[in-house]
Amino acid sequence: MSEQDFYEVEPIEEKKEEQKGEKKEPEEYEQVCYLCHRPERVAGKMIQIPGSISICQDCMQKTFDTMGKSPFSMDGFMGKMPNISMIDLTGLQEGMPFQKKIKKKKAEKEKPDFDLKSVPVPHKIKASLDEYVIGQETAKKVMSVAVYNHYKRVAAGVLDGVEIEKSNMLMIGPTGSGKTYMVKTLAKLLDVPLAITDATSLTEAGYIGDDIESVVSKLLAAADNDVERAEQGIIFIDEIDKIAKKRNTNQRDVSGESVQQGLLKLLEGAEVEVPVGASSKNAMVPMVTVNTRNILFICGGAFPDLEEIIKERLNKESSIGFKADLKDKYDKEENILKKVIVDDVRKYGMIPEFLGRLPILFALESLTEDMLVRVLAEPKNAIIKQYQKLLAMDEVKLEFEDDALHSIALKAKEKKAGARALRAILEEFMLDIMYEIPKDDEIGKVTITKDYIEGIGGPMITMRQGSM
Ligand code: ADP
Repeated sequence: MSEQDFYEVEPIEEKKEEQKGEKKEPEEYEQVCYLCHRPERVAGKMIQIPGSISICQDCMQKTFDTMGKSPFSMDGFMGKMPNISMIDLTGLQEGMPFQKKIKKKKAEKEKPDFDLKSVPVPHKIKASLDEYVIGQETAKKVMSVAVYNHYKRVAAGVLDGVEIEKSNMLMIGPTGSGKTYMVKTLAKLLDVPLAITDATSLTEAGYIGDDIESVVSKLLAAADNDVERAEQGIIFIDEIDKIAKKRNTNQRDVSGESVQQGLLKLLEGAEVEVPVGASSKNAMVPMVTVNTRNILFICGGAFPDLEEIIKERLNKESSIGFKADLKDKYDKEENILKKVIVDDVRKYGMIPEFLGRLPILFALESLTEDMLVRVLAEPKNAIIKQYQKLLAMDEVKLEFEDDALHSIALKAKEKKAGARALRAILEEFMLDIMYEIPKDDEIGKVTITKDYIEGIGGPMITMRQGSM
């Protein structure tokens, strides 16, 4: 079915008699708000005002709010509306020659407008993630399936009355384990717009900080203000653990629980009015309505101390009943985060309604020394490969001894910032090399040794053959 069949626009003029009352409307036509142009199906029941004009209740309310005076004064009504000052008011008296009506969507409310064929199947998504992300096997698998299902849902709409649940995700993992990196890789792979926001910057509307709907503005900006593209994008909200309910506080929790509450309707799917080309609402910025129904939300956080909650639960479970086990069985277990369940996160301070809207819960593991070594060398855009490319432009070969890589990984591990620390450490050692090597044309190869990383030696320099 083409777009044309859904939205047939006809001028009103021809059917003037039919417009006198709502009841006389032929079944297949619906009212359109004169101010915001939303059809009845979206904006809700219309209010009729003289001249066969329909206005939705939202716009009517806004008008009253703006005027702050009698709703029955037509002068004030139009004259004080900031966003309709450009409208030719004479039209109001003489009926509405320009008002258009949108034909009701025929059979179904939702139409499939997304081609599922363009979305790779889960194993292909995972294979592509494998090229960039080291380890995190479960997370990659869970994500690939969830994303595939999400876009299946977008493609299916609610054609047969069965609506597939949204696959919003909650990702738990230590700093530098690849949370943001995975989402970025995914968005690039699927060629959908991505907005990354920090939950700490969000506050309840009216307080200092970004209001919650700003996450949608960011996505719109990432989609070059193309509403349709934004509506199929991904929003990643990082540091979500920072909006956990604050314990033992008497003050209003404007950046914690209130933000969770505020996010609820976005996560589920709501129409939000966002400014175009600006991050904050004000009278000078045009607004557009974005529906978040098909936007995939991924929340991520490190959730420090969550391990304690999980351990406590596991120890409790294992020490009761017939299978009673050692009380501290789980105390020394690594990667305890993998055993997380919704209840643990709820105990941490996330409200149940919020968690209910993030049905896919999974954890990332902290990167081991071996994984960090692989992160240095294996991904398609590995840091080492980037340096090798840079030096290759000077016709110099760059190599790393295995021991040297382990040494770098160990140093990164000590910093407890996961893979994040790798680049900084490597940069420190590569600075001198990148500075010195171009000085001498005779150098053909540089090998980074363990001694160089540990500060007890230098890199191994090999001259070009025939130059000695
Ligand atoms: P966080 O989990 O804190 O969001 P990031 O995803 O921002 O961490 O990771 C920081 C950087 O570390 C990434 O840009 C990426 O280069 C690297 N990195 C982290 N984890 C991995 C991984 N599993 N595989 C490959 N690179 C990784």
